[in-house]
Amino acid sequence: MVERCIRGRAASEGVAVGPAVILRALEGASRAKGSLAEEHATLAAAVARARGEVAELIGTLEGDAAELIGFQLALLEDDALTESAYAHIESGVAAEAAWRAAMAAEIAGYEAADDEYFRARASDLADIRDRVLRHLFGLADDGPAPAGAIVVARDLAPSAFLSVDWTKGGGIVLGDGSPTSHVAMLARGRGVPMVVGLGPAWETLSGLLLVDGGAGLVEIGPDAERVARARAQAATLVQRRADAMAHQLEPALTRDGTRISVLVNISGPADMTALPAAACDGIGLARTEFLTGNLLGDEEAQYQAYAELMRWADGRPVTIRTLDAGGDKPIPGYTVDGESNPFLGLRGIRLSLRHPGIFRVQLRALARAAVLGSLKVMLPMVTNARELEEARAHLRAVLAELDDSSIAFAEPAFGIMVEVPAAALAAQDFAADFFSIGTNDLTQYATAASRDGAEVADYADVLHPGVLAMIAHVARAGRARGVDVSICGDAAGDARAIPALLKAGVRALSVSPGLLPMVKAAIRGLDLAALAEDA
Ligand code: PEP
Ligand code: MG
Repeated sequence: MVERCIRGRAASEGVAVGPAVILRALEGASRAKGSLAEEHATLAAAVARARGEVAELIGTLEGDAAELIGFQLALLEDDALTESAYAHIESGVAAEAAWRAAMAAEIAGYEAADDEYFRARASDLADIRDRVLRHLFGLADDGPAPAGAIVVARDLAPSAFLSVDWTKGGGIVLGDGSPTSHVAMLARGRGVPMVVGLGPAWETLSGLLLVDGGAGLVEIGPDAERVARARAQAATLVQRRADAMAHQLEPALTRDGTRISVLVNISGPADMTALPAAACDGIGLARTEFLTGNLLGDEEAQYQAYAELMRWADGRPVTIRTLDAGGDKPIPGYTVDGESNPFLGLRGIRLSLRHPGIFRVQLRALARAAVLGSLKVMLPMVTNARELEEARAHLRAVLAELDDSSIAFAEPAFGIMVEVPAAALAAQDFAADFFSIGTNDLTQYATAASRDGAEVADYADVLHPGVLAMIAHVARAGRARGVDVSICGDAAGDARAIPALLKAGVRALSVSPGLLPMVKAAIRGLDLAALAEDA
């Protein structure tokens, strides 16, 4: 019998059973301070051990993971990083405080960088800081969690994730964390079940745990029968993933021969290394607030980022969304501080239309990138047909400006995200070149349940008949207007939701790259005629 079951947030699908291995937090750890020479030697030894570990780890990795850890190794081999820590020690500070101070300055430098790539690297520096601190405090001898364990922690650094051998099973349970974090992305890419956002309950976990990453549940002390069922489930899933990978380059046809387009969502450069472009039908959503969020006024840098997407897609359609700042994605100095309910405030296109200068810089960079292939520009959070018309007027002005110059450009397709319920029900009134349904926001707004609230997660259900009716309405409106309709919210990558989405009339799904093989496999198992007959 299950003694207790705790609900968190689903971050990576799959079921794992194993002993809890608690990764102790660095907070509260202490050590006795030695002489100047001892502190110097202790820090040198800790850095050397961290460097050795990272060098060893890198040999076992490839792709995005190897790149991530390669950057960390380069930093650990750079004397400039340790010199300022040694200078602090010389002034009488203990090794751990000296290292923290040196790293804090370094991290602040990266966080303030203009380039998104360097800003994202601040978390790698924090990772290095903690790895060295673990050695200083003698916590590193915990070593990486053993294969097959359930790693339980407040949060988990990417390098700690990559230190574990996940090929033998195992799972992750975090007190904090988010399904959109870097480590959650790695977990999904490698099929490691993960539940996040458990809250303070994570500290009480011990003994045998069962993690259901799809349901966002952690069971404590499951009985032998439950364990056997879960192990069989996990083994089946591993086999299904391997089969799906073997067929990822093939098109996704339903059993009765209907072709479903499967595209990918891109939030950062690593997403383009997770999959060969040939496996997808294009990019269905590039989130520019992550790709170029801090480059608001920088047309050239934005153009370079968009050009990289176009080159990767190699002629396949690329859908780039204009800035969707606001809500849970603030951009200091651009979004509005102190809104009483940011998700219902100035967000997405509402903000872009209030900042026409910044909006036009983005449209110029996009029109220039449109020369490189098949570009579709997508507006987020559109509520009224008037917003689309206003945005199109900005596009026309930008195209006219470019026409007067010698800069190469092309007119991209111009479409909208359908994620506001009022817009979904009035989709027929929008003169857009395409519709893409954002089920994450559409569901939260339609069910009045926050998309990031663990307490109301059960309410925010895309399979609610009211939400499905809106999706079906948008699909009909798209057919009537003769424009493409796709789904780019998380539901598109959820095998449980896909039958209902296809039944609602959608024929294009855009998903995170790690999920694409399984999404194609799920589509191949469906018969549209049979779905249509289901009540
Ligand atoms: C959505 O709302 O479904 C969507 C894809 O957009 P985002 O998750 O970026 O808000
Ligand atoms: Mg959205």
